[in-house]
Amino acid sequence: MQDPGLLIVVSGPSGAGKGTVCDALRQSFPQIEYSISMTTRAPRPGETDGVNYFFTDNPHFEELLAEDAFLEHAKVYDHYYGTPKKYVFDQLEKGHHVMLEIDIQGAMQVRQRYSQALLIYIVPPSMDVLANRLRSRHTDAEETICGRLAKASDELAWIEKYDYLIVNDDLQVAIDQAAAILTAEALKTSRNAQKIAAVRDLYKK
Ligand code: 5GP
Repeated sequence: MQDPGLLIVVSGPSGAGKGTVCDALRQSFPQIEYSISMTTRAPRPGETDGVNYFFTDNPHFEELLAEDAFLEHAKVYDHYYGTPKKYVFDQLEKGHHVMLEIDIQGAMQVRQRYSQALLIYIVPPSMDVLANRLRSRHTDAEETICGRLAKASDELAWIEKYDYLIVNDDLQVAIDQAAAILTAEALKTSRNAQKIAAVRDLYKK
């Protein structure tokens, strides 16, 4: 028997730098498996099916929903997004960490279904910085950007539902903080019943 890995949930507005922080964490923690979400939105230029997302259509997504195949799902900007459940639990059981980069609706569902999940919220240092980051990506129309900014502001109400808040002002600091959180959480006694038993065994008189 093995202690389960960490289920790490990272949320924050698009433009907060979640993706960059998560990529850096994966480099430092090779035991992190990245769950690939399924979505009904169209791929953006440069995105690949099975790498960035599993891209699908509404009927197929709804079929899987009816089969309870998702750990969580949400409708964001009129499109479905969901985390395939089996992959996540298989990896945790093997002792691997799994990282989910999902929105608040999804994060709350994960918390309900799996209370040990570790929830981290990442925000940019200000609305101005967020607006600049979104505009400089040149991937979204101005209307979409305004929608994302309004959503980012509304979502600040949910921060206390998360275990940790990272303000991504300086990217390297944000990465270091996220790494410190993972290191400490993985060592918690409440997450290491098997390890504790093994240590006690070693020290048996
Ligand atoms: P984007 O379309 O920009 O890739 O993602 C839009 C939003 O959907 C982001 O806030 C992202 O975190 C969220 N998202 C991506 N995958 C999932 C998922 O599997 N579940 C949920 N609940 N949200 C997701």
